Amino acid sequence: MPSFAPRTDLETHTVENQPPPFAGRNLYLTDLALRDAVRREAGSWLDTRAEALGAVAGSEATLELGELANRHPPEFVPFDRYGRRLDEARFHPSYHALMTLAMDHQIHDLAWTSGEPSGHVAHAALLSIFTQAEAGVMCPINMTYASAPALRSQTDATGPWLEKLLGGRYDAPLRPIADKAGITLGMAMTEKQGGSDVRANTTRAAPLGGRDYRLTGHKWFCSAPMSDGFLTLAYAEGGLSCFLVPRVAPDGERNTIQLMRLKDKLGNRSNASAEIEYHDAYAMRLGEEGAGVKVIIDMVHHTRLGTIASTLGIMRRALAEAVNHTSGRRAFQKTLIDQPAMTAVIADLALEYEAAAVLVMRVARAFGDEDPQAKAFARLAVALAKYWLTKRCAGFVYECMECHGGVGYVEETPMPRLYREAPLNGIWEGSGNVIALDVLRTLKREPAALAAYAAKVEQARGGNVALDRAAEALRQAAAEAVGETDARGLCERMALVLQGALLVRHAPTAVADAFCARWFGDGAGVSYGALPRGVDLQAIVGRQTLG
Ligand SMILES: Cc1cc2nc3c(=O)[nH]c(=O)nc-3n(C[C@H](O)[C@H](O)[C@H](O)COP(=O)(O)OP(=O)(O)OC[C@H]3O[C@@H](n4cnc5c(N)ncnc54)[C@H](O)[C@@H]3O)c2cc1C
Repeated sequence: MPSFAPRTDLETHTVENQPPPFAGRNLYLTDLALRDAVRREAGSWLDTRAEALGAVAGSEATLELGELANRHPPEFVPFDRYGRRLDEARFHPSYHALMTLAMDHQIHDLAWTSGEPSGHVAHAALLSIFTQAEAGVMCPINMTYASAPALRSQTDATGPWLEKLLGGRYDAPLRPIADKAGITLGMAMTEKQGGSDVRANTTRAAPLGGRDYRLTGHKWFCSAPMSDGFLTLAYAEGGLSCFLVPRVAPDGERNTIQLMRLKDKLGNRSNASAEIEYHDAYAMRLGEEGAGVKVIIDMVHHTRLGTIASTLGIMRRALAEAVNHTSGRRAFQKTLIDQPAMTAVIADLALEYEAAAVLVMRVARAFGDEDPQAKAFARLAVALAKYWLTKRCAGFVYECMECHGGVGYVEETPMPRLYREAPLNGIWEGSGNVIALDVLRTLKREPAALAAYAAKVEQARGGNVALDRAAEALRQAAAEAVGETDARGLCERMALVLQGALLVRHAPTAVADAFCARWFGDGAGVSYGALPRGVDLQAIVGRQTLG
């Protein structure tokens, strides 16, 4: 038991029938689905690192930091006491401690520094483990990771930034990057009049000569505003262009980036998201004028990997809490998890988590493949995964909350926080429709992506009759002209069939068969726990013991 036991013999009653504390478990070693996927997609080098992070992230001390960072959200500090501009967000010490931990475990740079083709699996696995302790800090960590390709495309100008990003440690106070042990980066694309449609941007870039510009305009959402720099879209004469806007200008002064206010968000409360304005702010162009989307799209693509890994982490913590609760509480003479209706609910949730884990780790692996077909697959598959997993996440967390009964609705448990966090990854970096339309575009423009997808599904052929039938129906549907109104349906089916194929190849038979029966067979209902008959519930739930 992690903390000194509370007193249970009270004057009016004895407190009993309560589950054990959640803290003190290794979040990696107790997660068989993730462990299997990490060992398969990466191997022992990551296994060791994930085990180390799993122990730290699941400790009572770290879980407490996560709670504190959300109970004490960042403060908006536009001015100092004399009215001079600071334009800062001030964080609780717990936030800084979590950022330090995340960067010590290299979630921000391992993909680029490990030299392993499975480096992106490391990013995704570690990010999903850390998210279980605290999701908000993973926003700057993920954006920092994702900015590397855009910086690398321009090393003549961004060398000093890459040097501080790769191998960098968390170094919070605002200073010129040359004086820092490490940096973090954010992105500023969304404006009031248009987020998905970035070509509607109105921020203007005036040239100063060479790569140097001055930006004027606003950004409606800019998360982690204390980052050292922001990849920003703005219009130069040659069209929409990408810029790196540092918080400290080359003259050593604070750059003229004004924080207008912080968003009062539903969740993700440890992390600041700001509205900002550029007032002739210094900016360095990345790529050519007019090539802004081409440059920043690499960042968007990599950020999407973080959104699915974060979703996986949210799902895992919610499921693990539900398993912990229902395994440690009795009702009507039985442990809750052994009550048949509850066994079915937990089994159904577990199936969905298994399918999410196998998908996220396979997609992450594709990010490290140099082969053009694998790259095309990564572009398609990360969008499919983002569409489907983020759509399911809020309902999934709600069901895990319900497994707790009333206490799950109370802020002392992590369930309300997880519930508030659940919709975010679906909205940013491409909301549902935008992602679904993106999938259609990829299918149209990149035949290699569909070919790679089909090859992955083909590898599972013969492993499950219902899956084979669903794959065939999907092949026929995809061959027909698919319009925008069909986009969501197609995404959903493509994601499910890919999950089924991966489970058939890699998961225990009971898990794979149940998933295929649930999604491609007859007899399943819509709500969690409405599984078809004949599913091996015990085998599925048996993989969820938390030790
Ligand atoms: C907590 C949080 C943090 C954020 N952090 C950042 C950040 O750091 N940097 C940043 O740049 N942005 C950030 N964003 C903004 C986010 O990326 C945008 O909100 C998102 O891209 C959607 O843009 P929008 O809000 O303008 O909505 P819109 O683009 O107006 O979209 C509204 C809805 O319409 C749908 N839609 C759009 N186009 C179509 C179409 N052609 N057909 C059908 N449906 C369509 C969308 O899917 C969406 O559901 C953040 C958002 C949140 C919530």
